[in-house]
Amino acid sequence: MSVDVAAIRAQFPIFAAQDRPFHYLDNAATGQICAAAADALLRYETTARANVKRGVYRLADAATTAFAEARAAIAAYLGAAAPDEVLLGCGATFALNLIAHALAPRLAPGDAILVSELEHHSNIVPWQMVAAARGAVVRAIPVTEEGRLDLDRLDEVLGARTRIVAVTHASNVTGAVTDVARLRAAADTVGALLVLDGAQRAPHGPVDVRALGCDAYACSAHKMFGATGAGALWVRGDLLADLPPFLGGGEMIRRVTIERTSYAPPPHRFEAGTPPIGAVLAMGAAARWLAAQDWTALAGHELRLTERLLSGLAREPRVRVIGPTGLQGRLGVVAFAVAGVHAHDVCQMLDDFGVALRGGHHCAQPLMDRFDVAATARASFAPYNDTADVDALLDGLAQTIRKLA
Ligand code: PLP
Repeated sequence: MSVDVAAIRAQFPIFAAQDRPFHYLDNAATGQICAAAADALLRYETTARANVKRGVYRLADAATTAFAEARAAIAAYLGAAAPDEVLLGCGATFALNLIAHALAPRLAPGDAILVSELEHHSNIVPWQMVAAARGAVVRAIPVTEEGRLDLDRLDEVLGARTRIVAVTHASNVTGAVTDVARLRAAADTVGALLVLDGAQRAPHGPVDVRALGCDAYACSAHKMFGATGAGALWVRGDLLADLPPFLGGGEMIRRVTIERTSYAPPPHRFEAGTPPIGAVLAMGAAARWLAAQDWTALAGHELRLTERLLSGLAREPRVRVIGPTGLQGRLGVVAFAVAGVHAHDVCQMLDDFGVALRGGHHCAQPLMDRFDVAATARASFAPYNDTADVDALLDGLAQTIRKLA
């Protein structure tokens, strides 16, 4: 099924603003904002700005309604049973810190939290923090040579004291998509909660948190073609009802005295202070845009680009791909190292060809250690990419290797 990339690009203002070749392949770091989200942000900030959840005048009431509508759109995109299961904050990092700290009181000394070797630091560090505070330990699911969670070795790290399994839904380095059903079944054998970091998966089509069977799901608006500064955490309703707040402040309370505070019900209990209103409204618009796309066609499109890139990279003897070299169970995220050339040099040289790639450890140092590399270059696809982007990368890379290696 072919995709009208020009029609998609027309919905992303960044492309009309370029005066040199522009091959944006850093979508795993941040996607470009779609016009619908940019309009929602600008409209709110310039014509409809008031704080939410507090004012009684019309402008404030309209902002509160728009905020609730954005929550509903995000909840629908994630497959939540109810909008109030979705907590709005400033990104996936915030969401993962929130769920880690809210679950912390459930941990006793000797309990274990299971992450994996391919997690983004945002899904390792918060768990290390709460583990240290509670006397719990953090263990990691190993990663296969292909850059996937090695679920055949789950028995080595999952135990009777495992209380939480927190893993990514899709890797920001290898692109591997997690076999959530198998993890859920394993977590159930020890009664552990399953937290998914959806930062990379959520931009690639609707999520169904209930079909996944997870207990919490985190994502970031800026990777989902919304604005920077917003994100969401979905938590299963009955679990959420029992969780303590993470941050204290305005709008999350029922009653405050100098001695003590009683808290509002979810979602407000978890949304202290003024939220990133404009960015949340933009996230709602982005969720509606994402939900309206044909993801069968777009997933095929992104995988065809991935295949073209992988086969081009395979022709370069100095290139080593860190991640699956096939198309099964993966997203269009491709990390690679070039023997004898640092990833930053690769990316800097490719910038001369108008190719925007990420180079570095991708906030996944344990994974870099696993593959014994300091850094990699990484290309990551979005619906607005096309074969010209892949070819510019491969052409620029061939010239870079000739010059530097
Ligand atoms: N998790 C994964 C897998 C990511 O790729 C990222 C960002 O790259 C994050 C979490 C953190 O997202 P944010 O920086 O938007 O909070």
